[in-house]
Amino acid sequence: MGYACSRCGRKVKLIDQFIRCTYCGSRVLIKERPNIAREISTD
Ligand SMILES: [Zn+2]
Repeated sequence: MGYACSRCGRKVKLIDQFIRCTYCGSRVLIKERPNIAREISTD
């Protein structure tokens, strides 16, 4: 599971404990969830 920058939207790799976007410098990251889509029955 990785992280994505909330500002520029790029994927960010975690280097040790330094959680920061290496592109724009934002520290606000969003956890990427592998399974977000769910099958929803409308019936
Ligand atoms: Zn960024």
